[in-house]
Amino acid sequence: MDKIIIVAIDGPAGAGKSTIARSVAERLGFLYIDTGAMYRAIALWALRTETALDDMHRLEALAISAELELIGPGRIRLNGEDVSDAIRDRAVSEAASKVATVAGVRRALVEKQQKFGETTSVVMEGRDIGTVVFPEAQVKIYLDASPRIRADRRAVELSSRGQVVSADELVGEIEDRDRRDRARAHSPLRQAEDAVYLDTSALSPVEVEDEILRVVRARTSNGKSLTRQHVE
Ligand code: C5P
Repeated sequence: MDKIIIVAIDGPAGAGKSTIARSVAERLGFLYIDTGAMYRAIALWALRTETALDDMHRLEALAISAELELIGPGRIRLNGEDVSDAIRDRAVSEAASKVATVAGVRRALVEKQQKFGETTSVVMEGRDIGTVVFPEAQVKIYLDASPRIRADRRAVELSSRGQVVSADELVGEIEDRDRRDRARAHSPLRQAEDAVYLDTSALSPVEVEDEILRVVRARTSNGKSLTRQHVE
């Protein structure tokens, strides 16, 4: 069996992780996993069941019992229902970053995430992939961009889903989420020491992808065959 390769992509909201990770996975022929979608699904369930977002025990119970199925790039089923669009709501973004501060929720979801990487090569994106979920990942990337650019990207993404919000309004929301993600006690957002830092503010998605594929080549022992097969 080929060696399993883990590509961990972390960074704040709007740094371009989803677009880039999805495309890199496609180019490498790896499974793409959006861990944010998993936190969002638990948050959606909590909102629907009117679970208080500071009720740690109930939130942990939801995360443990949630049946989460990844059904395609960026698409997810929660307890049999396709919630891919519902989880992109702004209220869910906010709730997800609160739910994600609960240690028991993180434990349950990290366990599910680690299982994905046991059997196949993955490109996994989130906030703690290189630091907590796969500290041994061969490739770690930390994607960043200025808050303004991140808000602009988020506005475009929301408008493609029919939610019109100005980037000005989103800057504050994004900064709040980042603050919460960086300040939380459990698995805060931070760059792993061995991660490659990439500021995507002035780069096109293809430039970022090419740079990541260069890192994959450099960091994987079978990089040569990957190069021939998938990268060039
Ligand atoms: O990546 P996305 O913005 O969809 O993630 C939603 C929220 O889930 C983030 O704001 C963050 O609080 C949380 N999250 C996390 N750890 C991850 C992925 C997402 O805490 N690995």
